[in-house]
Amino acid sequence: MPAEPTPEEIQRKLAEFMKQQFGDKVVLAGMNPMPDAAAAGGEPEEPPRTDEPLQFDFHFKPREIKSHLDRYVIQQDEAKKALAIAVCDHYNRVRQVEQEAKESAVGNGRRFGGSYSKQNVILLGPTGVGKTYLVRCIAQLIGVPFVKGDATKFSETGYVGGDVEDLVRELVFRADGNARAAQYGIIYLDEIDKIASPPNIAGRDVSGRGVQTNLLKLMEETDVPLRSPMDLPSQLQAAMEFQRKGKVGRETINTRHILFIVSGAFDRLEEVIKARLKRSRIGFSIEPRAAEISQTELFRHVTTNDFIQFGFESEFVGRLPVRVVCDPLGEDDLFHIARDGEESILRQYEASFRAYGIEVKFKEDAIREIARLAHREQTGARGLMTVCEKIFRDFKFHLPSTSIHAFEVTPATVVNPARALQDLMAREADQERHVLEAGVQEFCRQFKVRHGIGLRPNAGVLRWVVDKALADKRNVKDVCAQLFKDFEFGLNLVRKNTGQMDFEIGEVVTENPDKYLSQLVIGSYRDEHGAA
Ligand code: ADP
Repeated sequence: MPAEPTPEEIQRKLAEFMKQQFGDKVVLAGMNPMPDAAAAGGEPEEPPRTDEPLQFDFHFKPREIKSHLDRYVIQQDEAKKALAIAVCDHYNRVRQVEQEAKESAVGNGRRFGGSYSKQNVILLGPTGVGKTYLVRCIAQLIGVPFVKGDATKFSETGYVGGDVEDLVRELVFRADGNARAAQYGIIYLDEIDKIASPPNIAGRDVSGRGVQTNLLKLMEETDVPLRSPMDLPSQLQAAMEFQRKGKVGRETINTRHILFIVSGAFDRLEEVIKARLKRSRIGFSIEPRAAEISQTELFRHVTTNDFIQFGFESEFVGRLPVRVVCDPLGEDDLFHIARDGEESILRQYEASFRAYGIEVKFKEDAIREIARLAHREQTGARGLMTVCEKIFRDFKFHLPSTSIHAFEVTPATVVNPARALQDLMAREADQERHVLEAGVQEFCRQFKVRHGIGLRPNAGVLRWVVDKALADKRNVKDVCAQLFKDFEFGLNLVRKNTGQMDFEIGEVVTENPDKYLSQLVIGSYRDEHGAA
C-alpha cells in the first residue's frame, strides 16, 4: 500500500493542480508564502496586529461568577470557585495587557505582560458531572466565544482526524466571523486523558505526544491562519477572492489570550497517585489510608509528576497550572439537578410539551424515582436524559395528536410508562365520550324545546351515537339529526293519538330508524282504536 501523503505533499499537489488549471490567476492561501501574489500585482493584506488595543471589557469578580454558576450547576462548589478565580485572573490580565498597550506611547509592536503565565485549567472528574456545563455557563456569562473539542479527534499531522488549529478557527465561527473576538475565547478540550502516553507502556502512542506538542504551541502563543491549508473549500474561496480583488486576506488569529480548559475522567490516574503515595515514606497525611480514599480525594492531591507518570509531557502539564476536581454526583444531586436546575431536563420536557399546548407536572416522588434510575446509569446527569428519553418517548409521540391538555408524572409513570400512557389515553377517551354524550342530551333538550316532545335515548343508543360520531369524525348533533330524522312528525302523531309526551328510545332504533318510527305510529293508532 502506498504511504499516506503528508499534508505538505497534498498542499504541493493542490498548488500544482491550481497552477496547471489557472496559471497565476489563482493562488492558495495559508500555504507557503505566496511570491506569485505580489508578482501578480496583489498586495497581501497585513495580518491584524494583536497588539492593537481592543476594547476588552471584563468586570466580573469571582463571587459573581460563582453565584451565576449556582443558578445552573448543582454541587461542584470547589470547581466553581477555582474556575471563577482562574477565569477572573485570566481576563483581568488580558484587560491589563490591553490597557498597557493602549496607554504606552511606544506600544507598537511591543509585547506586554510577557512574564505572566496563563491560567489554563485541567478539569478532572467523571463523565456527566457538569465539567463542560460549568465552562459553557462561564463563557456565556462573560460573553466570550466558546468551543468544545474532543482530544481524541486530533492527529499529530492534522491530516487524518483534525488539526488542533481547527479549534481556533472554530472560535471565529462561534464569534460570528469576528476574528478579533475569537482571540479572547475559551477552548474546551475533553478526553484529554486519551492523548496521554504512559512511559512504561511498550509501543507508546507517539501520535498522542504529537497532539500534545501541537496543543502546547497553541497554549503558549501562536498565529493560526484563519483559512486552514487543509480545507479545500476555504482554499478555493481564497482563490476566488484573489481573482476578484487581486489580493488575498491572510488573517491570522493569535492564541495568546485564548483560555484553554482541558478535561477528562482520568481513571488510570488514580492508580498513579496511589502508587506514589504507597512509595512515599514521608508522612503524607493521607498515605496510610491510600487504599480507601475516594478518587476525588486522590485527585485533589495530584502532582505535576503524577501527570507526567500518567503520560503527559512535562511542558504540556506545565502549561496547565490550575487543577480543578469535579465530584461524582449522587442520587440526591441528580434529584436536585432535575428539580431545581434552571435549564434542567425537566424544564426542557415541560417546554416541549407546552409547544403542543400540553401542561406536564412532575410529582416530587416521580422526580426521585427518575433520579434513582438515572443514578444506576453511572453517567452522571446524562443518566437523567437517558431515563427521561425512555419514559417520555411514546408520550411525546402520541399526546400531541390527542385532546389531552395536561398530565401528571407520578412514580407509576416512571416505573411503567407504557401502562401510564395507556391509562391516560383511556381516561381521556372516557372523558371525550362523556362530552359527546352530553352533546346527545343537548340535542334532545333542544328537540323538546322546539317540538314539545321528550326524546329519552337509552344507554345503548347513547353509546351508538358516540361511537358513530367518533368513527365517522362527525358532530354528534349531525348524527342525532340523521338518526331522528322525521321523528318530530311521527312522534307528534303518536302524541295526538295517545297523549304521550316523552319517548324512551331503545337500541333497535339504530338498526332501522324509519321502521322504528312507523311501528310507534302504527301502534299508536291501534292504541287509539283499542281505547275507543
Ligand atoms: P461532563 O462532565 O461530561 O462535561 P456535562 O457538563 O456535559 O458533563 O453534563 C451533561 C449535561 O448534564 C449538562 O448539559 C447539564 O444539563 C447536566 N449536568 C451535568 N452536571 C450537572 C450539574 N452539576 N448541575 C446541573 N446540571 C448538570
